[in-house]
Amino acid sequence: MARRRQNRITFTTVIIALIILALYNLIESRDLFPARETPGMQSQDELQDDLRNDLRDDLVEVHFIDVGQGDSIYIKTPSQDILIDGGERGDTVVDYLRSQDVDDLELVIGTHPHSDHIGGLINVFEEIPVKEVMDPGVVHTSKTFEDYLTLIDEKNMIFTVVRAGTKRVYDDGVVIEILSPVNPGSDNLNDASIVARLTFGDIAFLFTGDAETPSENEMLIAGAPLKSTILKAGHHGSSTSTGDDFLEAVSPEAVVIMCGYDNSYGHPHREILEKLDVADVEVYRTDLQGSIVFVTNGRDYEVYHEGSNGED
Ligand SMILES: [Zn+2]
Repeated sequence: MARRRQNRITFTTVIIALIILALYNLIESRDLFPARETPGMQSQDELQDDLRNDLRDDLVEVHFIDVGQGDSIYIKTPSQDILIDGGERGDTVVDYLRSQDVDDLELVIGTHPHSDHIGGLINVFEEIPVKEVMDPGVVHTSKTFEDYLTLIDEKNMIFTVVRAGTKRVYDDGVVIEILSPVNPGSDNLNDASIVARLTFGDIAFLFTGDAETPSENEMLIAGAPLKSTILKAGHHGSSTSTGDDFLEAVSPEAVVIMCGYDNSYGHPHREILEKLDVADVEVYRTDLQGSIVFVTNGRDYEVYHEGSNGED
């Protein structure tokens, strides 16, 4: 059981502690593209080849949860339960995770501090034990962000500020690599979004948060490994994301757009839908199809969705 603190910790103390923690963790995360090899260890390519040759029949599920206007993605690997964002505050994601028999999460990624991404994480943190939170380490002055940080501290979660180049290789064959941000500021929080690429065998997913064109260009210039089978369109299908060069570099087979039905932002923007049509990409939308689930064995994938908003 967690030890109770004797004194009430002020919010300022929490912030200072988190910054110190973040700086410490950054030392471990300075591994920019191309990924460096540690002498004596198996190279990433060798490891990937081994995994491809010896892929078990285990599956990876990626659930793009219908949270209305916002993002929340639950990933079930053979060994890990991972959540990227939690939509706005409320029980939608907690209820969804419970329906999937999730009783704890090894990793939560809060892509950036906007409420349509971290709001629902507050509810998740209150209800479900979480081991580690990855965060871009940019400050936002909202009550939502304050509550999010306070819970991370109170529940003694590991708080890791990540940068491009951070990589996690799991025994089950899943690799997660952080492609952005490099050096984020608080002036455009969307571009501070953590962009994560998950690979399992031959299948790759690219999760972009609300990263917009400047962030996309930064990844292109850095030579980030963008090519992916499935792309979650940046910023809910806004025309400020999914630039031509970025889309070409990712060259996905399928794109998932996460946005609310009849939302006030006009997401997804017409230009993006036309661009995806021209690129001959399969498009899935949470506003029309409800929650969308990809299941992959590392070679092929299948897609399931609810069709909750009248479309199939
Ligand atoms: Zn958003």
